[in-house]
Amino acid sequence: MERALETLPSGSKEIIGLKSVDYNSYFTTKIFHLKEEGNYRYFLEVNKSAQHFPKFYYENELGEKKSAVNWCSNDYLCMSIHEEVISKLSFVSHKSGAGSSGTRNISGTTIHHRELENTLADLHKKESALFFSGAYLANLTALSTLGKILPDCVMISDEQNHASIIEGIKASGCEKYVFRHNNLEHLEQILADLSPSLPKIVVFESIYSMSGSVAPIKELIKLAKKYNALTYVDEVHAVGLYGDDGAGITSSLGLDHEIDIINGTLAKGFGVIGGYIAAQKNIVDVIRSFGSGFIFTTSLPPAVCSAANKSIELLRDNKRIRPAYQNKIKRFRLVLTNEGLSFAPNTSHITIVTVGDSLKCRKISDKLLDEYGIYIQPINYPTVKRGEECLRITLSMRHEESDMLYFAKSLKQVLNEII
Ligand code: PLP
Repeated sequence: MERALETLPSGSKEIIGLKSVDYNSYFTTKIFHLKEEGNYRYFLEVNKSAQHFPKFYYENELGEKKSAVNWCSNDYLCMSIHEEVISKLSFVSHKSGAGSSGTRNISGTTIHHRELENTLADLHKKESALFFSGAYLANLTALSTLGKILPDCVMISDEQNHASIIEGIKASGCEKYVFRHNNLEHLEQILADLSPSLPKIVVFESIYSMSGSVAPIKELIKLAKKYNALTYVDEVHAVGLYGDDGAGITSSLGLDHEIDIINGTLAKGFGVIGGYIAAQKNIVDVIRSFGSGFIFTTSLPPAVCSAANKSIELLRDNKRIRPAYQNKIKRFRLVLTNEGLSFAPNTSHITIVTVGDSLKCRKISDKLLDEYGIYIQPINYPTVKRGEECLRITLSMRHEESDMLYFAKSLKQVLNEII
């Protein structure tokens, strides 16, 4: 009984009686506290238009029809609205139906699943790849499976790793060490203290989604190899955008063969849906054979695989899009700087304006939307630590110079009023 009480939000112990639990009060109290802290999540209906993206349409609280420009989409390269990707999705849907209707093992594997996995393996210069419903599930399944299979495995994880990595490591049941963000010295201290005979996996992201910082991948791999640890990189925010073929940061450094396991998504840079891992054949085979999150779920529709495959093909062929996107980012940051706005320094495409207060963060976001037609979702706890609340700004290939100028002026005005 005492243990259950400890997990309750403060001031809510009275809702549990000795004989019965008042579930409704418990949930109400939880939500009440979340709202009080400014961390309650409100979903805006972002009615996307393939034609007008990044403009979208929504209805406000008064029931008025409004439009705004999206500054927080992960459709960086606008592949979700690419005519050829859409055509592929619709063509294969008509041929193969809307869903796969089976797990991969029980009637849910088609030529489109196989082709996509072959493309992904080839993209990352790996022997094999495995396609999941999302990169979240891919991280969760891959890490938990590897951790369970390798006896006494130890996971060593960057402190800014994504929730899916944290959950994967938790589910593995492994001993876990967290190293300070991108801190090689701290990582080495941890590795050096561990018995050389233990299996180890060093887990990091190439681009950290909520800070935009970039990992020192070459040095991380070197250290891991020195201590005979496997390396696992989440390239979710980098695939499509970096590297000659769009295979991510590891590839841009020529390290495809040095990294052991790559995780990526087809939902952001590639604009469709689904996630994956790519690695040597036996690692993939182990996850395919023992990974619960792969085995016991219906596979994504064949048309989705085929559209994702098309998107990868288009982005591999279009070598000009990546430098063009980077130029746009540079230009955008110059526009912000010219307006006197500061943002966290990083070498990625994710621009972070730190606010450091959840209520102010929400207020800024609301005002930008209501009065300026600019949509940036505030990033609050638990996505970031308390005190690190921020605006995470993402640019797409369709944002124009005029959008950037208007954005910078509007943001400056709103920040001046609220901070
Ligand atoms: N990894 C990172 C770093 C992410 O930011 C996300 C999602 O935002 C994921 C994994 C999950 O990717 P997906 O949306 O494909 O499940």
